[in-house]
Amino acid sequence: MKKIVGLLLCFILFSQNIYANPTFVLIQNKKTSVDPVKVEVNGNTLQSAFQPFAYGNRTLVPIREITESMGANVAWNNQNKTAQISLGDNKVVLQINSRAVYINGKKKLIDKSSIPVFATYPKENETKTMVPLRFLSEALSFNVDWNQEKQQASISNVKTVSVINTKDVSEDGGKKTADKAVDLTKKPDDKNTDQGEKREIAKKVKATGPVTVVIDAGHGGKDSGAISPIDPSVKEKDLTLKVTGILKDLLRAKNYEVIETRTRDEYIGLAQRAEIANSNQAEIFVSIHFNSSTSGIASGIEVLYAPEDRVKIKKHEQIHLAKALNDELKKATGSSMRTMKKRPDLAVLRLTEMPAALCELGFVSSPTDLENITQDSYIEKLAQGVANGIERYVNNYVEFE
Ligand SMILES: [Zn+2]
Repeated sequence: MKKIVGLLLCFILFSQNIYANPTFVLIQNKKTSVDPVKVEVNGNTLQSAFQPFAYGNRTLVPIREITESMGANVAWNNQNKTAQISLGDNKVVLQINSRAVYINGKKKLIDKSSIPVFATYPKENETKTMVPLRFLSEALSFNVDWNQEKQQASISNVKTVSVINTKDVSEDGGKKTADKAVDLTKKPDDKNTDQGEKREIAKKVKATGPVTVVIDAGHGGKDSGAISPIDPSVKEKDLTLKVTGILKDLLRAKNYEVIETRTRDEYIGLAQRAEIANSNQAEIFVSIHFNSSTSGIASGIEVLYAPEDRVKIKKHEQIHLAKALNDELKKATGSSMRTMKKRPDLAVLRLTEMPAALCELGFVSSPTDLENITQDSYIEKLAQGVANGIERYVNNYVEFE
């Protein structure tokens, strides 16, 4: 009997570990038990190594991840521990451990349980700035839905993206072929007429003239991006511009049409960056970033992309560009590569219609990475790796008509 009770107890403990997924974080050095919450932004699950959680009756989310996926911009002031978050005309200023917030310059007091805090995730040994999801969403004009059963918060600021009707997508540039005309004669009640739901996902990109590549130097102007905790003079926004400055020349030498989202230290919104690519009907979009982590342990290069089954405006398989960049970056730099990640929540990946990838070219917080990325010769290697990746993708996945 004892044995059975023991087994049963083991089973209960074991299954709780799997299903209840209890999480502990440190808030003001206090071990605090929190419940994980799933967060969706415009229909996409927020991807983060740092689990959003319920604290009191509020959902707290890591600021960097949530603002990035909302397409908002965050500027962090380390001196007074304030974050300024802006999206469109809305501006929100939050301060760690403070009830006072500013919405478009107007001071407000938020609920005690909504106060932004630092939370240390013990497993990762990283400290993240956590902000209240509901407050932030509403201040930035997002709708918030809470599903108690799923423990899921969904926020959105867009109407559901309408699914592209294949009838309107013709691969021959508007001229309908006889085959397609026949296809379209099917009555709506025919068995196979869910064309409205289906999208044609092409493996290859068709290009008529020179391939247009939009290269996007992440951050800029008031948005510094990551600042190295080791050497604060090293800012992500400067590094990204250095890479794209070399990259554009490498690509132009190979007869690509290159469009840069920025060429100097200026602020450009995330949606605007995607719009530059869409309105120019670019074949390829590559965003350049650098990473940071509070632990200082994380290092290496990682390539992110938004899988087409998660982003309805995509018309091509997305992984091939990411893979080509991943492999060529590895070859060019010899640096360690982290696994490629699916990030349908990132604005520049989600809002661009063409194959797109985002390269995080190293950690400003890692001593080894920092030594590399502060050398011009290594920046050249990074640019060369990205250029080779684009070339490899074009050779294998772009068809010229
Ligand atoms: Zn960045």
